[in-house]
Amino acid sequence: MTPDYQLIEIQTLASGDTLQIPVYTFQGKTGNKKAYIQANLHGAEIVGNAVIYELITFLNSLNSDEVQGEIVLIPMCNPTGVNQRNLFFSTGRYSPYDGNNWNRIFWDYSHENVNIDDFVRKNINLSKQEIQANFLKDILNKFQEKLDKINPYRGVSFSEDYRNILQSLSLNANYVIDIHSSSVSSIDYLYCFDYRQKSADYFLLDYGILMNKYDGNAFDEAFLNPWLVLEKKLSQARRNITFDVEAWTLELGSGMKVNEESVKKGFKGIINYLSAKKMLNLELITPEQKTKLIPKNTIKSYYAPQGGIIRHRLKEGTKIQRGDVLYNILSFLKTSITPTIIEIESADEGIIYDVSTNDTVNQGEYILGIFPHG
Ligand SMILES: [Zn+2]
Repeated sequence: MTPDYQLIEIQTLASGDTLQIPVYTFQGKTGNKKAYIQANLHGAEIVGNAVIYELITFLNSLNSDEVQGEIVLIPMCNPTGVNQRNLFFSTGRYSPYDGNNWNRIFWDYSHENVNIDDFVRKNINLSKQEIQANFLKDILNKFQEKLDKINPYRGVSFSEDYRNILQSLSLNANYVIDIHSSSVSSIDYLYCFDYRQKSADYFLLDYGILMNKYDGNAFDEAFLNPWLVLEKKLSQARRNITFDVEAWTLELGSGMKVNEESVKKGFKGIINYLSAKKMLNLELITPEQKTKLIPKNTIKSYYAPQGGIIRHRLKEGTKIQRGDVLYNILSFLKTSITPTIIEIESADEGIIYDVSTNDTVNQGEYILGIFPHG
């Protein structure tokens, strides 16, 4: 099947050029669910573009009766971030206009002045499908109301304009997948929300971070949070519903790199997830092991206790015991003629999941992170 291909203009530039994002839509013959998958929201995190290429190639090989519903794919979803450089380094994590993290700019319906308790009272006796449809209608109406309020003469900031474009394409989806990479060197993992743990295994990744504290306004959070708020309020009113709505952030490999293993894993996981959600008719792969979900507040981060050069640092994926030497710092401190070497031991037991890529550090810089065992 061939996708519908659309270019959406996101910004005209002072030079007269125009930044655009490509939108590939694969429309199945039947089904009414929607999956929305984007890549490269942070400029250095490029792996997802290769994953989306593999998905496009794969979906091209199917017939439209082998896809149920609509699959929307957006590679290079943030051209401003993708193109940004300092020397040869991709930066592109923060908007050059306002300094905001590109993944903290999104609109969350539940942060609006809306009365969800009232919605629950009015809808409590309806079917799950009717409640889902009514709540989605409310979200989309509120979003449209905000768009309508934009005065064309006054305009809006680029961050707001940009987020409105991405969210207008994704707010009515059932499943949102945002493909990132670690900005350092990392194993592959995902972010999972509470009450959605059951679906995490479909991505076939060994590890996930369980979000127990929201940073707020990330793409996945802003999408799913209103639904989680509604589910909570319904359960307080003794109606337990899990809506057919999920959001995932995949962290595949490392910034500025395309690790082919990460591409393969990302592609395989997404295909398996879409099959589990009955959007593709493929045989489901049962994972050899469940995804181990690590509560976000239990992750241990290590920062340099003093400035210097990092040596003998253990790699991501290394299993460690308490007392193992994680790395050395070689320092030429001006207070001593003799250079010093400090051995840093692990205070934790677990697996190193990411390590910074720069071997020279100032005091307080991030060195590595550990998913603890147990
Ligand atoms: Zn990212």
